[in-house]
Amino acid sequence: MAGSQRDVVILGSGPAGLTAAVYAARANLHPLVIEGEPSSTSDQPGGQLMLTTEVENYPGFVDGILGPELMQRFREQAARVGAEFVTGKASKVDLAPGNSRIWATHHGDEEPFVTARALIVATGARSIMLGVPGEDTLLGHGVSTCATCDGFFFRGHEIAVVGGGDSALEEAIFLTRFADKVTLIHRRKELRASKIMQDRAFANDKIDFRWDSVVTEVVGNGKVAGVGLRNVVTGEEDHLPVTGLFVAIGHEPNTAIFRGQLELLDNNYIVTHDGTRTSVESVFAAGDVQDHVYRQAVTSAGSGCMAAIDAERYLESLG
Ligand code: NAP
Repeated sequence: MAGSQRDVVILGSGPAGLTAAVYAARANLHPLVIEGEPSSTSDQPGGQLMLTTEVENYPGFVDGILGPELMQRFREQAARVGAEFVTGKASKVDLAPGNSRIWATHHGDEEPFVTARALIVATGARSIMLGVPGEDTLLGHGVSTCATCDGFFFRGHEIAVVGGGDSALEEAIFLTRFADKVTLIHRRKELRASKIMQDRAFANDKIDFRWDSVVTEVVGNGKVAGVGLRNVVTGEEDHLPVTGLFVAIGHEPNTAIFRGQLELLDNNYIVTHDGTRTSVESVFAAGDVQDHVYRQAVTSAGSGCMAAIDAERYLESLG
């Protein structure tokens, strides 16, 4: 496979990448999906849904479905219709119309792993971190971005979640299955999350709220022992003794390797036009890597379908 040329290469295997794979495979374009590498972050195979629990808003699943199970089904469907997969990450790209060269982590730096006549970028987005002292060193030792992955370790503990969006509330509610108490730390007095999630969180008596507060540091020797807090209105400093801190303050797109080659917005999301077209005519972008507005599994899947159709039409136009 290494060194080969493909009609369609897809980077990423979340809802966008795998839907693009289903459509491209059914159009006989023999897509190759470079699916990511196992990790604890949201750029692993399957993408962000691998780090979620119940998905209640993906149409067709009346009783909801677990995120990882949904992605497993997407993957099996793509494989059944003929998509091929490699486990690895694109480490470098050289994008030229009709001939995008892709280097991959599992293949080394010297030669491109594969070249693509049409490339679909579906590399998704990753968790933003707080950037406070202690966060980095205690990541995996009490600091986490994934309640589904790590919640079990906090059975009977008192822990905290930072953020006021749907992700933070989803994490906080899920964590009450294990923890005795979950403190939600939010920098304002109003939550950004949807009404239904707010109602559920307010009704959960294991969840406490720290309003107008930011985390100033994560403290602990080898494992989290607490977080420093500052009230942004009064300036008051405080220490919250917790054994876990879940960071859920949003995401940034995985676009580092495309800088200088694809047009990006100021917030680094890929600019698309006329469907999923990018600033390079044979490169298409789908899912969260180009969507900072909707960011839903179903909209990602929809844009993956569009990218495959756009890529197919582009290849047809070449004759
Ligand atoms: P989000 O909606 O962007 O919320 C991020 C939260 O983190 C905001 O409350 C923000 O505060 C806070 N924040 C950002 N930077 C911060 C910092 N440096 N320090 C402290 N707090 C900070 O992100 P999200 O919750 O990940 O959700 C992303 C999208 O996915 C949304 O469209 C959401 O609806 C969707 N989503 C849906 C579901 C679901 O339907 N089940 C689940 C998860 C996510 P401010 O409010 O002050 O800006």
